[in-house]
Amino acid sequence: MTGSILGPCVELPADVVARKIATARRAAEIWRRTSIGQRIDALTRVWESLNLRRAEGLAIIREEHGGSRLETEFLEFGSAAMLVDYFTHNARRILDDRAAWLPWYLFNKSATIRRLPRGIVGVITPWSVPFLVPFSDAFCAMLAGNAVLLKPSEWTTKTALWIETVAQATGALPEGLLSVISGAATAGEAVVDAADLVMFTGSSRTGAIVAARAAGRLTPCVLELGGKNSMIVCADAALERAAAAAVWGGLLNGGQSCVGVERVYVEARVYDAFLDQVKARFAELKTGNEACVVAARLVVASSVERLQAQLQDASRKGATVLGGHVLDPSSLRMAPALVFEATSDMRVMTEELFGPVLPVMKVERAEEAIALTNAGDTGLSASVWSADLSKAEKLASMLKVGMIGINEPGSHLAIGSLPFGGVKSSGYGRRHGDEGLLALTHAQSILVHEWPTQMIDPWWLPRRVWVIAWLRRQIGLR
Ligand code: ADP
Repeated sequence: MTGSILGPCVELPADVVARKIATARRAAEIWRRTSIGQRIDALTRVWESLNLRRAEGLAIIREEHGGSRLETEFLEFGSAAMLVDYFTHNARRILDDRAAWLPWYLFNKSATIRRLPRGIVGVITPWSVPFLVPFSDAFCAMLAGNAVLLKPSEWTTKTALWIETVAQATGALPEGLLSVISGAATAGEAVVDAADLVMFTGSSRTGAIVAARAAGRLTPCVLELGGKNSMIVCADAALERAAAAAVWGGLLNGGQSCVGVERVYVEARVYDAFLDQVKARFAELKTGNEACVVAARLVVASSVERLQAQLQDASRKGATVLGGHVLDPSSLRMAPALVFEATSDMRVMTEELFGPVLPVMKVERAEEAIALTNAGDTGLSASVWSADLSKAEKLASMLKVGMIGINEPGSHLAIGSLPFGGVKSSGYGRRHGDEGLLALTHAQSILVHEWPTQMIDPWWLPRRVWVIAWLRRQIGLR
């Protein structure tokens, strides 16, 4: 089994890609001359139009990606609304010119830091969150004054084309400011080659290929790559909340989100009690209504094969697996799986699980879970659960990851003020937060000599000995 139930989109012909790149370049030149206020107004109109036509968008996303209507609406559009709200209210503060500090003996000069757009931002995205990630990355890039070449996953191209069509129909943006380059690796390579900055979200393997290609032209990258996010439950944790969070975080988006709960470590003293709660919640799923996950529809067929192999590996090595059977291979539907008595040599505890699988492992102490987490290649996010917040913070500070939840499974993606990204093979650079928006620009440092207009600076020629002696003292060359 390969592919998805929809099949990948076709590559755009090279001449069409070249035309789109040229149009984006022209649009970038127009757009960079607009003020932040004008960009906020225009992009707010784009968002309002997408939000008004949400029902149409949801139908396309669900056709490509599956998922319940309610969950898709909250994850894709609810999070987008939160991000738009944050960035439209904070863009001026983050991007406006800033006066820079100067030492007192340069009192007759001034300094400013200006943020200028990069030009074209190449946004390359995976299929896991087909609206939110392309939309919000493109939105922030355009807010910072850039044009965007969007290369969506070949499995979820219709959603990106819908964003492009609705955005163009508003008439608020220059032609081609947001342009979709559909296709697979070849299209992605064309976008990397044309971009002044690459924002890539996807697997660590492809991320490394993209970074190497971008390095050939010294193009900077922001890379958000895979993770193996640990949830670490201490014996004093609020177990009901922790169990509910594990089930939500493990099954959200059919278990196909990069910051979902990927593995749970529970201190031995509460392991049975925690597991009972999780089992009870899994049992509820079967009788739940549309708002509850009954079965996840996976996006790509290869996920089903991989998940089944990961579950078989766990069974063979002594874990108990509840659920996880493929309900309907032709529609890629799979029942949620709870794996317990897991051990650290099982694939479910070390490999990324792109599906509705929640593995739970007993540990004697939380420190053991932290060591296992830090020993892995990835470092995207992790959470620590304890009623003692200072203990939880101390444990969390030992984790080598980009994002931490304390009694929180991880809703960072929807919170615009929080830089989002990881360390190690989970990537580098950040989206969101001040630094995420700043990364979409480059700094231009401006130093102005103000008065006296004809002054000769003392370190220029000819140098006067007494002035140089004075300057030496001021600078600190004693
Ligand atoms: P996923 O399987 O989660 O979609 P991938 O890392 O395979 O993750 O793909 C993420 C994105 O990168 C997709 O849009 C894909 O088409 C694109 N892509 C794949 N290969 C390349 C490449 N060589 N250069 C640029 N983009 C690529």
